[in-house]
Amino acid sequence: MIKAVVVRESGVALEEVDEEFLGDGGIVVDVAYSDLNYKDGLAVTGRPGVVRTMPLIAGIDVVGKVAESNDPRWSPGDWLVLNGAGQSETRHGGFAQRAHVEPTYAVALPDGISPERAAALGTAGYTAALAVLRIVSEGAKPEDGPVLVTGATGGVGSIATMLLASAGFEVAAVTGRVESHEDYLHTLGATQIVPRSEFEEKGRPLQKATYAGVVDSVGGQVLANAIARTQPGGTVSACGLAGSAALPATVMPFILRGVTLAGIDSVWASLEDRADAWRILARGVDPELLDDITTTITLDQVIDAGAQLLDGKLHGRTLVRIA
Ligand code: NDP
Repeated sequence: MIKAVVVRESGVALEEVDEEFLGDGGIVVDVAYSDLNYKDGLAVTGRPGVVRTMPLIAGIDVVGKVAESNDPRWSPGDWLVLNGAGQSETRHGGFAQRAHVEPTYAVALPDGISPERAAALGTAGYTAALAVLRIVSEGAKPEDGPVLVTGATGGVGSIATMLLASAGFEVAAVTGRVESHEDYLHTLGATQIVPRSEFEEKGRPLQKATYAGVVDSVGGQVLANAIARTQPGGTVSACGLAGSAALPATVMPFILRGVTLAGIDSVWASLEDRADAWRILARGVDPELLDDITTTITLDQVIDAGAQLLDGKLHGRTLVRIA
C-alpha cells in the first residue's frame, strides 16, 4: 500500500491507497521528496481554488526516482523533478510514496543540486527563478538600482532575494515581519528592509520611480504601489496573491513610464523555461544558505504545516521527506 495525503469532498487525510488509485498512464516514480508551497497549504486544509477533481493526492511538486518508464526520455533509476503541470489540481501530486507522473514537463535533476535541495527549492524556488529571469531578460541590470521583492520572508520571496543578491542586485525586501525577520532577510542578501505598511496605503498613480524591477508574490495594493514606484522601462513580475487577487492600479505607469507587468505562470511554463530556471537556481543559490532556511517535515506533518503556512507562521522553505 502507498501512504498519501488525499483530498476528498469529506476532508483531507493521510491514507493508504493502492497502486490502482494512482491511475493509468505516465511513468512510475518512487517519490523521495516534495515540499510545501502556498497552494499546498490551501489544498491540504481543504480550501477551494487548487484541487479541481476529487479524490486527489495533494502536493504540487514531485522529486523522485523513476521506477518504470515507457517514455524514451526516462529510464529506471533517473532522478526526476516535476513542478506544477496540473499536479494537485487535476492530477495526483507528490504527497505520496509513489506517483504515476505525466513526464512532458519533467526535468532531470539539475547538475550540482541534490534531490533534497531540489525539493527544498520546489515550485517556490523555480517560480522565483522564472520571475528573476523575466526581469533580467527585459533589460534590468544591477547598476540600474534596487529590485523590490514583496512577501520577502515567504518561499518565492526568499529565493528571489537570494538569486537577485547573488546576481549582484541591490534588493529591497518588503515584509510584514520586520521585527522578527530583519536578520533573516539580511542573511539572504537583502540590503534594505521595507515594512509592508509602506506599501499598503492607497497611493498616487505615479510615485517616486525607485525600483529597477519587482518580484511580487502579494498582489493587491502592495502590487499597485510597487508598479507606481517602478523606474521607466522596468519590469514587474507578478507571481502571486498572498495578500489579494485584486489589482487597484491605473495604466499611468505603463503608458508614461513604459513599465512592463509580466505574469509568471509556473504551472504550465515551457520545458525550455523550466530548464533555464533550474540552471540559474543551480548557479545562484548558496546550498548552505538554502539548508539554513529549510525546515524538514514528514508526510504525516503536512496537513498541520499547511495550516501554519496559511497562518503566516512559517518562513523560508518546508521540505517534505517522503521516503
Ligand atoms: P508563502 O506563504 O511562503 O509566502 C507568502 C508571503 O507573503 C508570506 O511569507 C508573507 O511575507 C506575505 N504575506 C502573507 N500573507 C499576506 C497578506 N495577507 N498580505 C500581504 N502579504 C502577505 O507563499 P509562497 O512564497 O509559496 O507563494 C507566494 C504567492 O505566490 C502565493 O500567492 C502563491 O500562490 C503564488 N505562487 C504563484 C506561482 C505562479 O506560478 N505564479 C507559483 C508559486 C507561488 P512577509 O511576512 O515577509 O510579508
